[in-house]
Amino acid sequence: MDILAHALWAGAGMGLAGRRRPVKRKTVALTIALSALPDIFHLLPIMSWWLLSDGTFATLRAYAIALPGQEPPLPSTVNLLSHHLHCIAHSAIVAAVVTLLLWALLRSLWIPLLGWWSHIVIDVFTHSVDFYPAPVLYPITQRGFDGLAWNTPWFMVANYAALGLVGVWLLASRAKGQRSSLGANTDRAKAET
Ligand SMILES: [Zn+2]
Repeated sequence: MDILAHALWAGAGMGLAGRRRPVKRKTVALTIALSALPDIFHLLPIMSWWLLSDGTFATLRAYAIALPGQEPPLPSTVNLLSHHLHCIAHSAIVAAVVTLLLWALLRSLWIPLLGWWSHIVIDVFTHSVDFYPAPVLYPITQRGFDGLAWNTPWFMVANYAALGLVGVWLLASRAKGQRSSLGANTDRAKAET
């Protein structure tokens, strides 16, 4: 899925989770950041090549928005690093190892990791064999599930429409909740006087 939609879905998920129990702003921000990072991580070698060597911003931009088979040529090391970083960031196996290690260290689930997990799960189904399939089982295999490519026009419209509806519902139900708690406080104040 595109990076903005990943971040918005993670934000919506945290908005929903916040209804059940308090979630710190920092946790929300980190979860949203981790939901977007898997699509930025693999650009780092290209960014470094641009900033520290003879790469160009135009190549970085072209790579970031390229369709399969239309990627600009890159030095082989940069290409290899970028490819494997993309695989690492989209692997449920890698995510599981990191989750378990952090769990052992902190003795509880580090919530922001759910942002990363949401990215992986969504990408498995929103990429097709012809459109950068998510290498969810890397390093065992780099093959991915043949889902529906997120850039399919009707899916883009449906996805953003769904995000819009969820956003409106979250805002409207929060406003309603605030009004009713305000009403309850006023009633209590009246009863006490
Ligand atoms: Zn992705």
